[in-house]
Amino acid sequence: MLTVCANGVVVEARLAAGGYLCPDSGCGGVLGPWGWARRRVVEDGLGGRGERRVGFAPRRARCRSCGVTHVLLPVLFFSRRADSARVVGRAVELVAGGLGRRVVAGLLGRPLGTVRGWLRSAGVAARAGPEVFGAMAAEVAPDAARVAPGPAGSLVGGLVASLSALAAAVGARWGVAAPGWEAVGAAACRCRLLQASWWASKAQHELALPPPWWAGPGLV
Ligand SMILES: [Zn+2]
Repeated sequence: MLTVCANGVVVEARLAAGGYLCPDSGCGGVLGPWGWARRRVVEDGLGGRGERRVGFAPRRARCRSCGVTHVLLPVLFFSRRADSARVVGRAVELVAGGLGRRVVAGLLGRPLGTVRGWLRSAGVAARAGPEVFGAMAAEVAPDAARVAPGPAGSLVGGLVASLSALAAAVGARWGVAAPGWEAVGAAACRCRLLQASWWASKAQHELALPPPWWAGPGLV
């Protein structure tokens, strides 16, 4: 599994051109097209569910060297969430900025229990995430001293600040506008940023990989 930009046309062109490398460590083979994964739909409306739905079928790819297949996940969503990364990210950002969960649920037109669930998971990610993302930012940034995260007033604020710093580093390194912090979080964690079991599994060590296969022009 690897994470790609949300623009299917860009993904298709890059895949056809051999632009994705096998994410399995030590392989380095080129991925070629290999069908599609199950179609899914995410709720992307910032004013409520049903306002804007995005449907997509993630591309499957197969490594021409080792033969392993991979799903190319767009940075649009977080695994196991019905709402898009943009919506969930906005909620986390607003709470980090000091708004109450009930107010945020009202603003985004989502059930309070759903918003609480997002924030609980963001709290889990916020314990280990900032250190991991900080290390990635230092690795990616052309000038590490300039990507120190800004001050954070809360646990989830620290998560947002560290991913924003990583987004800025990605933008500076590849000469593109800095992507959204939530897209970078989805990319770095293969869409599992808000999956508590993923953080518990210590799988985040996979993130030590150099990231050019998920970043660069067309990330968002
Ligand atoms: Zn391979």
